Amino acid sequence: MGEAFEGEEVLGWGGTVWLGVLWVDGLGRGRSGFGDICMKYRTYLIFGAPGAGKGTQGKILGSIPRFFHCACGDVFRSLDTRTPVGQAFLEYSSRGQLVPDEITVKLWMAVIGDMVGLHKFKPDIDALVLDGIPRNREQAEIMTNVIDVRRVFHLTCPDREALITRLKKRAVKENRFDDANDEVIRKRLTTYENESKPVLEYYGESKVCHIDATQAPVAVAHRILSEILANP
Ligand code: ADP
Repeated sequence: MGEAFEGEEVLGWGGTVWLGVLWVDGLGRGRSGFGDICMKYRTYLIFGAPGAGKGTQGKILGSIPRFFHCACGDVFRSLDTRTPVGQAFLEYSSRGQLVPDEITVKLWMAVIGDMVGLHKFKPDIDALVLDGIPRNREQAEIMTNVIDVRRVFHLTCPDREALITRLKKRAVKENRFDDANDEVIRKRLTTYENESKPVLEYYGESKVCHIDATQAPVAVAHRILSEILANP
């Protein structure tokens, strides 16, 4: 953790976080500490409804050198459930709701900061692949000074029942408690429609690439990689 810059507002969730290349305060405002030059993370977003395959595609991309994958849901699931943030995750996710923005973005920034500190994510040479965050407009706004979003890969699956079938399979295979219950699944899909989808408008159609998520994973990955290669 670093000191706040002179005149910096002291924020409820702990002031500034050292991200290796820039200082980021609790509102996601970054400063490099070298004059006014501020380096944002080159970022690709994997976006879509629960069950659309964000995690699968994120992992594929993250296995390629010079890409670093971070899934917000995995960050939450790795928490000790005895901690306040772990408790908040259990409480909200078990109801199919989003964890409050302040907790989520603070946690995400701390984790990314750790990854930079450990040299797992090297922002000067690696692209960041995010799935599950930003998950609403407010999070996108908070993160705007930290991430330079190059492309949003929107994995589309208008067939809700197909998503529900995928989620139920995942409940068994991955032991996901939030996928096990019909009511929670439906609530999560509604949360996605009402709260997450506006993120697409926030970034604008020119940045969004719609991809049919019902295709085989290899076909989706092929499309994502072609887009990145065509517009690096
Ligand atoms: P999925 O995309 O399949 O719903 P995730 O693993 O991304 O699953 O997320 C699981 C749960 O974790 C969400 O339903 C939500 O409660 C919480 N969560 C994950 N990411 C965020 C986020 N960015 N903001 C708020 N809550 C989140």
